[in-house]
Amino acid sequence: MAIKITKVKAICTAPERIPLVIVKVETNQPGLYGVGCATYTQRFLTVAHAVDTYFDPLLKGKDPNKIEDIWQMAMVSPYWRNGPILNNALSGVDMALWDIKGKLANMPLYDIFGGKAREGVRVYRHADGRTLDEVGDRVQAFIDQGIQVIRLQFGGYGGRSALDSMKTENPCDGAYYDPLGYQLSVVKLFDAMRKRFGFEIEFCHDVHERLEPIEAIRLAKELEPYRLFFLEDALAPEQVDWFKIMRNQTHTPIAMGELFNNPMEWLGLISDRLIDFIRVHISQIGGITPARKLAILCENFGVRTAWHGPGDVSPVGHAANIHLDLSSWNFGIQEWSGWSEKSLEVFPGCPELRGGYVYANDKPGLGIDIDETLATKYPCSEELPQWTNARRPDGTLARP
Ligand code: MG
Repeated sequence: MAIKITKVKAICTAPERIPLVIVKVETNQPGLYGVGCATYTQRFLTVAHAVDTYFDPLLKGKDPNKIEDIWQMAMVSPYWRNGPILNNALSGVDMALWDIKGKLANMPLYDIFGGKAREGVRVYRHADGRTLDEVGDRVQAFIDQGIQVIRLQFGGYGGRSALDSMKTENPCDGAYYDPLGYQLSVVKLFDAMRKRFGFEIEFCHDVHERLEPIEAIRLAKELEPYRLFFLEDALAPEQVDWFKIMRNQTHTPIAMGELFNNPMEWLGLISDRLIDFIRVHISQIGGITPARKLAILCENFGVRTAWHGPGDVSPVGHAANIHLDLSSWNFGIQEWSGWSEKSLEVFPGCPELRGGYVYANDKPGLGIDIDETLATKYPCSEELPQWTNARRPDGTLARP
């Protein structure tokens, strides 16, 4: 019997209270299906709707072996393309097709991608806090667990909240931050952590596009003595032309790309060697198929991968990251958010962190599944995010 897709459906669940979207692609072969990550947590309902209303009728009856053809067809079927909603929906399908491919071949995906280029995936964890001692104690706890690369933040993205005395009269709602206080505090933070821990540990930092371009360049220069592993999202995607100027001013390594959706956003940054790490959120660019092409493009220009790996990448998406990390020669580092027992129950087969490395299991395909019954125990909240409503002290809306 020729193999065919019989159903494509979205499953929404929030074991860590972060809405996740999983796509399941079912086939006419008994017990054969695949799962993929389509998580765009801030607009999860719209992605799930696109999967159920457009991708299911589009793909029913198709041969799931033909991943490249299906990806290209599904990308241009709506004519307009490369937006976050449909890229995420397509990613869910694409990862599920790769999962099916691995199950048919009886091989884990890293083997299909060329085999392990390393045994474990080195990860970085986040240390944040309201005081220098609090951040330092979290760094120490990670060091004690064997973590070798740690992201330092001080009071969250954009630093501490702006004081009420800095705001205008009748301020509108928003997450107010203080750009000057933020810049000064980051330098103090790195100075204190280098004094406490020395230089035998790697540190990185995420600006989260909170600064004006010239402020970001000044910060990258001021952080040079502290020898960062990378400085992330120093500029907003709308300002990437400033990377040319930043590159000529500083040797601080640059990571960029978690907000990218369209290949035109990364092509020039890579081919002009303006960044050191590509950090796209794999479901935001359309799944494993475009991510493999991107990793190979980067290899040719000496750029390493550092795929986005926060809590709003599902465990299925994390598994996809890990299979790419294991098999890409130019792997750099993997962000790792970790999860609780709830996620481990809903998603049997999660990759495991042991010491400073994450290891995949050797099951065929992605090696991870979703327990649909348990998933219903953790419904998604439809509350809109507040942190993306970032504002400067005078009330001006900032990039979040
Ligand atoms: Mg980031």
